Amino acid sequence: MAFRPAVSLVLASVFLGACDTALDTSAPSRPNIVFIFTDDHTARALSAYGSEINETPNLDRLADEGMRFDRCLVTNSICAPSRAVILTGKHSHLNGQLTNLETFDGQQQTFQKLLQQAGYETGIIGKWHLKSQPTGFDHWQVLIGQGPYYNPRFLVPGDTIKITGYTTDIITDLALDYLENSRDKSKPFMLMYQHKAPHRGWHPGPDHWEMYADEEIAEPATLFDDYSNRASPAAGQGMTIANHLDVGDLKLQAPYSMNDEQKEVWYTVYGPRNEAFQAADLKGDDLTRWKYQRYVKEYLRTVAGVDDNVGRLLDYLDESGLADNTVVIYSSDQGWYLGEHGWYDKRWMYEESLITPLIVRWPGVVSAGSVSSAMVSNLDFAATFLDIAGVDVPADIQGQSLKPILEDDTPNNWRTSHYYQYYEYPGWHCVERHYGVRTDHHKLIYFYDRDEWELFDLEADPYELNSVWGDDTYAKIQADLETELERLRSEYAVPEDTRPTGPCIPDGRGAPTRAGD
Ligand code: CA
Repeated sequence: MAFRPAVSLVLASVFLGACDTALDTSAPSRPNIVFIFTDDHTARALSAYGSEINETPNLDRLADEGMRFDRCLVTNSICAPSRAVILTGKHSHLNGQLTNLETFDGQQQTFQKLLQQAGYETGIIGKWHLKSQPTGFDHWQVLIGQGPYYNPRFLVPGDTIKITGYTTDIITDLALDYLENSRDKSKPFMLMYQHKAPHRGWHPGPDHWEMYADEEIAEPATLFDDYSNRASPAAGQGMTIANHLDVGDLKLQAPYSMNDEQKEVWYTVYGPRNEAFQAADLKGDDLTRWKYQRYVKEYLRTVAGVDDNVGRLLDYLDESGLADNTVVIYSSDQGWYLGEHGWYDKRWMYEESLITPLIVRWPGVVSAGSVSSAMVSNLDFAATFLDIAGVDVPADIQGQSLKPILEDDTPNNWRTSHYYQYYEYPGWHCVERHYGVRTDHHKLIYFYDRDEWELFDLEADPYELNSVWGDDTYAKIQADLETELERLRSEYAVPEDTRPTGPCIPDGRGAPTRAGD
């Protein structure tokens, strides 16, 4: 008996040595992964995170049955860069997607290619937004660019297909059809099920047109922020509810700039709901309040559409018997401003756009209803997907697997600081380029084109309204944060940003800007 285990170990070593991925691909127990991803969904519009303005019962169900992460911080708060970080597990300066303007280099290493090599079937359905065609996916049906809310056209291998209906519903239809009818059922799968909603434009589905019609949505505490006591960039942007929502956002009149197809959608969906006359006599803060209501209701209606469809997907996983061996992950590409600081959009290192929702349900592994406050990041997703699948994480991936946290065994040396950098300037909404570090209780931000700094005490000033940079009381903290910032830039091999900058003119007249954000 004594030598039997020894023989087994020798055989195992031979087998593993001959196999790149060190995996027994016949093992039936490798979990499936469904990554549910939305665009611009703030945790403050998710009742599992304590939303005071809406209910998301289906997303809440994931949190009730899984783990909610309260501090999932993005590395670069904008759409395409976040997606590239997730696919590669590397910061923007290494994956090449600094802004929304670059074309993603699909030749580079991505987690989905590594999963494929390890015997997983990989699929992506819905929003992609990386310009180049998807690589590393066995199955893909992706929106072209931003994609519309109605009657979307999808890019598929070698062709495009147009489907009539509401995009959030259609993406779910395609996902369910793939899971039931198209995938190779002999393999574990990884599906990225990715919505356009609740991205700007905010066109709800027919089921939600009248939702909130007779309600007043609570205003955030900082709706009328005056941007005093901070560095100059906060006041110089172009993303205020007061001045920068355009006629398309507010659905006030048929925009003159639309093509025939867009006009058709416009008149079909919004013509009957044109309420421009309501605002005719409003001025100043009253007008801003009216615009806020108009904007936030449309946003929340599109969130309701996502939540309904997440319910359809969860029901399918239950009914098909897949739920027990499927890890379901919910996240969004970044946070978002629902009127905080007077804004919509994202980009800043301030909390509202830095924090993104992350919920993970993994039956038999994650304790139901658990909450983690560990400082995690979208940088960690690639390593996590690989670790869940039992695939070795390559050394050049910069993120860390969240699997130990999911197993309620957070490493003692888990990170206590987070590096952030935003690059898109001049660009939409004129948010200045900046980098910085966030720790447990503080945040240091450097606007490097202006050589201006901000330091926030997140305990004393959770809304980040009063920078204490240069305040003697914080001299030690400031020096420590500067040291930590340099350490992180060195660890992540971040080069100086030498790209030319230039003038940026915040658009105060409501011209169409949706194509670029
Ligand atoms: Ca986004």
